[in-house]
Amino acid sequence: MSRFFSGKYDNLAPYVPGEQPRDRKYIKLNTNESPFPPSPGVVAAAGNEAYQSNLYSDPECTSIREALAAFYGVKKEQVIATNGSDEVLNFAFMAFGDEKSPLLFPDITYGFYPVFAELNHIPYDVAPLREDFTVDVADYLGNDHTIVIANPNAPTGLALPLSDIETILRANPDRVVVVDEAYVDFGGESAVALVDRYDNLLVTGTFSKSRSMAGARLGFGIGNAELMADLNRLRYSTNPYNVNRMTMEAGAAAIREHDYYAKNIQTIIQNREYAKEKLEALGFRVTDSKTNFLFAKTDAMDGEALYLALKDRGILVRHFTSTRIRDWNRITVGTAGQMDALVDAVRDILKGEPV
Ligand code: PMP
Repeated sequence: MSRFFSGKYDNLAPYVPGEQPRDRKYIKLNTNESPFPPSPGVVAAAGNEAYQSNLYSDPECTSIREALAAFYGVKKEQVIATNGSDEVLNFAFMAFGDEKSPLLFPDITYGFYPVFAELNHIPYDVAPLREDFTVDVADYLGNDHTIVIANPNAPTGLALPLSDIETILRANPDRVVVVDEAYVDFGGESAVALVDRYDNLLVTGTFSKSRSMAGARLGFGIGNAELMADLNRLRYSTNPYNVNRMTMEAGAAAIREHDYYAKNIQTIIQNREYAKEKLEALGFRVTDSKTNFLFAKTDAMDGEALYLALKDRGILVRHFTSTRIRDWNRITVGTAGQMDALVDAVRDILKGEPV
């Protein structure tokens, strides 16, 4: 840190992204990317648009907002497009969290939430998940917090039914409830259907997981037009060109080519259930994931040792060090071949086979 860095960030512990080592070729199951490339139309759209990258992108993000609005059955005014969903989450925290409305989210959830809170000096509370990592809805019933719920949650993979989201919305009519649906396409129930009924609902989504565009950085928020105006006020005060031209047109093409992604989603769900069964047969406890990752633990060895042993064998998974989950690993669901390689490696490790 330089001697010039402002003391206002003394408490800021930055988010630590999943490792991207380059020392060898790994089977990468650590950052919940899709194992499948984007569809041909997406690559073509990005390439064509690159010819015009001497010109700024559309600050209104018209093409992608129209595409999203049509896809989700809402109006364009109910949609904001952002540089990954991290950006819309950051705007939402800035817009709706303060001393009067501190943030509330589970103790085990997406690691960026406390970072955005610290960055923006927004107070926050955490509600411990139950022993089995389920959310206790009673913790979120009307205590003046701006609520942030990842549904399905990460890294647990568990989903809340829409009826529970609705209970939370009804109990907090004067506070915004942010539902982070980064993983919803893999088996969750989307709250987008509720945006016209609850003016306190903001749903966030991403093209990083089910739409194979993690590296293009495209996210979005859906809610009522007034919430969008609040978020846009911050967007126009930060970076009006937050979504670049190539990404914007690639995103619109991904929506047009939905069938391709729908098939990939089905494959990932199949591979998830297949790998879950195999890991359970090896004695693992595996949560009932509705996402593109598994959350798993074995009593045979500690979580970090397993993570390191897999890394030695060229397989990267995500290990977290916080106390409640340090014996667990989060494993992105990849191709069937990658899942077989994972299961074989785990079996060898448990048998004590040398690398
Ligand atoms: N929410 C959750 C729960 C996530 O796991 C992630 C991905 N790490 C994000 C949001 C943000 O993803 P992106 O910025 O790529 O849209």
